[in-house]
Amino acid sequence: MEASREFVYQKFCEYYRDPATIIPSPIIPNQREFAYLLFKERFMVRHKRFEGIRNLRSVLSETVPSDVYHSCAYYENPDFDMDKKGWLGADLVFDIDADHIPTTCDKIHDEFTCVKCGFSGKGLLLEVCPACEATKFEAKTWPCEICIKSARDETAKLIDMLTNDFGFSLDELHVFFSGHRGYHVHVEDEAVRSLDAMARKEIVDYVTGLGIVILDKDARRKIKKGTAKKFNLNNFGWNKRLKNGMETFLQTATKEDLKSIDLRNNSVLENRDTIIKRCINAGLWDSVDGVKDQTWLKLAEHVRELQAANIDTVVTTDIHRLIRMNGTLHGKTGLKKVEFPAKNLQDFDPFIGAVAFKKGNAKVLVSDAPEFKLSGETLGPYKNQTVELPVAAAVMLICKGRAKVAN
Ligand SMILES: [Zn+2]
Ligand SMILES: [Zn+2]
Repeated sequence: MEASREFVYQKFCEYYRDPATIIPSPIIPNQREFAYLLFKERFMVRHKRFEGIRNLRSVLSETVPSDVYHSCAYYENPDFDMDKKGWLGADLVFDIDADHIPTTCDKIHDEFTCVKCGFSGKGLLLEVCPACEATKFEAKTWPCEICIKSARDETAKLIDMLTNDFGFSLDELHVFFSGHRGYHVHVEDEAVRSLDAMARKEIVDYVTGLGIVILDKDARRKIKKGTAKKFNLNNFGWNKRLKNGMETFLQTATKEDLKSIDLRNNSVLENRDTIIKRCINAGLWDSVDGVKDQTWLKLAEHVRELQAANIDTVVTTDIHRLIRMNGTLHGKTGLKKVEFPAKNLQDFDPFIGAVAFKKGNAKVLVSDAPEFKLSGETLGPYKNQTVELPVAAAVMLICKGRAKVAN
């Protein structure tokens, strides 16, 4: 193995072999499938069953994988082939990853190279190579603070919906930093275990605000006789989110903000206060001249986008999904997946709480790294220079392909 890779491997060894390392057990471990990616072979070992966390730990300290996963699902026979496992249920899981969220940093710290033709660029990963139309890229990403904050904001919206609209208590939500640049939310309550893929898709649709109907078509017919309102929002769930969101948006909206959602109607800004008071708060949606259904629909659609939680929908609907295991290291950063109380979402600093390597320094040759914080220390930016860094920072830069061990 190449020296830098060997260095990271050695650090992972120390982590998994240290008796002080805490790797919490998922609930009912003996009904879950475990899987791990081998460091040297880059091969995924799957369909493993362990009686308990101790058995798994001894395997981890022997094999020292780069990444460890377990199924969200519970099986009669987790170590059998997929079709013979005997699915018993699955946790409800949500994955929020900055990879899929537009951010103000616009991922300028990310680079990609087309595997086929070598075309490369900076910024958000493309789906298709503009040069050769291939769809496989090698990506160089970075867990930047802006990216993680954007993922955190999405997670906050999700938690708000799960508690206020779905009725879970904060204690029932297991919230994790993913170890890279996102968050996971697991619901392990028995009430969700038997949900099939369709039911989970319904939950995804709710969380992302897909298919909200706010213009009552039946009422439109009745309104001709003057009996009902076409546009109406009540005071719970998405209706309430839209109402509150419209109020917040209108309070500070500029002419440009309105133009950006295709509203060129001057009466909205001229009557801002009246609209908020009479229409949104009192529910008299038709009471301001020139502000009708089409205006409300455009506002509602914009607010829907703002209020929706940007989750990776595939993860939630997949009832056999493997998810990174709590307490294990992320092969792309050397940070660990770590759980924290849902109420601490805003205060939990992953660049402190997820740091696994707390001792020692290492000399590395850094090709390119932006300024970053780790364990409360501000480091970088670096460009083609040899520096002595805390081990956690050295591991992260090597994992990210931005540094090599210096001789
Ligand atoms: Zn290409
Ligand atoms: Zn960023």
